[in-house]
Amino acid sequence: NVHIRTVCCIGAGYVGGPTAAVIALHNPHIRVIVVDRDQKRIDAWRGRHLPIHEPGLEDVVRLARDGGAEWYRSKSENEPGSTSDEVEAARQPNLFFSTACVETIKEADMCLISVNTPTKKRGVGAGRATDMAAFEGACRDVAMNAKPGCVLVEKSTVPCKTGQLMKDIMEAHRPGVVFPVLSNPEFLSEGTAVRDLMQPDRVVIGCESTISGHRAAAALANLYAAWVPRERIAPINIWSSELCKLAANAMLAQRISSINSISAICERTGADVGEIAKSVGMDPRIGPQFLKAGLGFGGSCFRKDIASLTYLSESLGLPEVAAYWQQVLTMNDFQRDRFARNVIATLNNSLRGKKITILGYAFKKNTGDARESPALDVIRILLEEGPKSIAIFDPLCSESDIQRELSVLEQDFAVCTPAGPVEVLSDPYAACADSNAILVLTDWDMFKVTPQQTAPTKLLSPAESYDGTTPSDILRITSNFDQQTSITKPPTPPRTPKMSPLPANLQRRLLPEPACPPECA
Ligand code: NAD
Repeated sequence: NVHIRTVCCIGAGYVGGPTAAVIALHNPHIRVIVVDRDQKRIDAWRGRHLPIHEPGLEDVVRLARDGGAEWYRSKSENEPGSTSDEVEAARQPNLFFSTACVETIKEADMCLISVNTPTKKRGVGAGRATDMAAFEGACRDVAMNAKPGCVLVEKSTVPCKTGQLMKDIMEAHRPGVVFPVLSNPEFLSEGTAVRDLMQPDRVVIGCESTISGHRAAAALANLYAAWVPRERIAPINIWSSELCKLAANAMLAQRISSINSISAICERTGADVGEIAKSVGMDPRIGPQFLKAGLGFGGSCFRKDIASLTYLSESLGLPEVAAYWQQVLTMNDFQRDRFARNVIATLNNSLRGKKITILGYAFKKNTGDARESPALDVIRILLEEGPKSIAIFDPLCSESDIQRELSVLEQDFAVCTPAGPVEVLSDPYAACADSNAILVLTDWDMFKVTPQQTAPTKLLSPAESYDGTTPSDILRITSNFDQQTSITKPPTPPRTPKMSPLPANLQRRLLPEPACPPECA
């Protein structure tokens, strides 16, 4: 049997950090060490301000990283009156962050590889194939340094058959040594990562049909079984496991493109896409999730995973399959372009001398991840029209992250120069001042307005949600913008959005909520 005492997680990003933290939290008897080459990121994971924002993540990381006693101490300093739980207070730190990749790999019984796998930017398959450079680099580090028998786990999203590539790399460096390879794709969503990890719908573990493969899969399943019901842990064939991640993301994205295609028909006919989504979603065979029309999907996964699927299909001689999935991306681009062109058309086909405000840059609410936001393409299209300025406000994306994303527009629009046309502001009201149009591009709760508040402004929406209160991607046209009637009306939003409560099963492991002081009862 495979005994796991030390787990090394390679890649301290959106997946590696939270996944390792939750595994460590629930398995206090093992050491989990997250390694990354990026010193800044590791410093941030070790420090007070984590490098990524996820509701509930700070509690999980601090409890596992600093130990129970330290966690309770800092909690009771911030929340007087809290009591400590002896069992949790006695827990020792078992989550560590380090840049010592080689040393950590050497002592690990299991290596989770959760490095970035973006789309290739140049060379064969550019724009579609997966760039495996980071993944291969991590595999080589493991191949050269891991103990014989160390279990290798693909957590990154990778093309089908990557397990074979891993085996080939291991064989080339350490011929004859057995290293079981598992596929364990991650299904978390940014913004709900902790909840998704604490209460996963399923944990997929793909393994080879060998004795060592099954033993390794059982060892990984045991780590998850510390908090996930056994019936949700699905051992499957390794190729199915690799492909099911791409298939899941492709199908989720396909629903978004499907409802967005209907929204275009709605705008030409007077039908209401919200009513259609509601009615279609009430069919239990379809369900209501991912049927909200909007600006289209963004983020670091959907686009690249569908691109990877189309490339894989073509490589396998299946051009019809590739074309089918490519259409999901085409529809996504169409929706975003249509939205931007609507803005321009509504402002009399000219943005000269006009200020446009963008509220929300992140590809969805509750994340500070600025990568692959549809907002970037909207900004690009608007800049073509030569507006006076574009002001951006997002409650979580940092100015530097947004500027880094905007830097791809530098050559054409000189956006990064101080006198450039784009400005990132930390105050939503300053961003909206004297604006000709306010575009709400992320469905942050702080941008929610009631029907009365929106009434005086004209709504142009590919995306009104069916609860009647919160269009997710609305365009509030303010060519006759009246400060009295629109953006000044909503209550002052907090700088940092209110985080949702911790999931119930984490709360159970943490301190009971302190009693409410009498004045707030
Ligand atoms: P990320 O870019 O946030 O983090 C990857 C980290 O890996 C970086 O910090 C990088 O420095 C590090 N790294 C790269 N090569 C390394 C090496 N050889 N040694 C040590 N560190 C190395 O990426 P992410 O968003 O966490 O995504 C990781 C993988 O998980 C991707 O394959 C992605 O498709 C998949 N995934 C992401 C999400 C998501 O929501 N972000 C969800 C599910 C799956």
